[in-house]
Amino acid sequence: MTSSLNLSGRVAVVTGASRGIGYFIAKELAAAGAHVVAVARTIGGLEELDDEIKAEKAISGKGEATLVPLDLADGAGVDRLGGAIHERWGKLDILVANAGVLGVISPLGHVEAKVFEKVMAVNVNSTWRLIRSVDPLLRLSDAGRAIIMSSGAAHSAKAFWGPYAASKAAVEAMVRSWADETKNLPLRINAVNPGATRTAMRAQAVPGEDPKILPHPSEIARKIVPLASPELTETGLIFDAPTERFLRYRLPE
Ligand code: NDP
Repeated sequence: MTSSLNLSGRVAVVTGASRGIGYFIAKELAAAGAHVVAVARTIGGLEELDDEIKAEKAISGKGEATLVPLDLADGAGVDRLGGAIHERWGKLDILVANAGVLGVISPLGHVEAKVFEKVMAVNVNSTWRLIRSVDPLLRLSDAGRAIIMSSGAAHSAKAFWGPYAASKAAVEAMVRSWADETKNLPLRINAVNPGATRTAMRAQAVPGEDPKILPHPSEIARKIVPLASPELTETGLIFDAPTERFLRYRLPE
């Protein structure tokens, strides 16, 4: 793996790092020299990531991982994460809030309450709680970067995607607020639409689709990781990975 991005000495939290897009974002950040704090529930996936990062380090001398097996629906666990990072590194440079669940593809009136609540708990509540846990640490970095995973569903009017679409619209609203709160600081906070990607979540959402027509998550990760660059100027926007362009929310004043 090659990377022109230099993240040596930088600490990055990546949630949902056990598979899919988050796994490859974590690998890319480590290849650029970052120490990745990899969060997910599946220990096997995290260990596989760690093995790959160690193998890459043996060649390039760059990158490291600390594995954090955690259910993000465990609010107290998310609260403790910020404290643990502060104790070890005294700051956080990069947050990639990538973990998410689809819930169910179904007419809104047929969605079970526990499924709706789970989508909100993982996609919205845990993202807010994570932001709350690490916001003070990102402010201690000279170039704090937050990459918050959204979806095209946040904007498209698509039948049966209601709970997931509502959760991602909420996430984008948080990104706008948080970016506005920090606009005079060296923080850059953006949402990302990765676009349709060959992962377990996409297979659940569109079961009949041939995965081979979709980009591999490593390809999408390579487009997203530059948002962690200390040189990034954009904040409060949506990065659309398929077109590699920033979409703007605000109308010109
Ligand atoms: P995957 O289903 O492949 O991976 C989801 C990741 O989230 C896994 O690592 C999973 O880890 C983690 N996760 C889920 N629930 C929890 C939880 N309760 N606690 C901790 N970790 C959790 O999804 P993708 O890689 O496809 O999606 C990544 C992000 O991109 C999501 O936010 C998704 O909404 C978004 N996205 C994806 C698209 C696609 O086409 N794939 C399109 C648009 C947006 P574990 O199960 O080990 O806990």
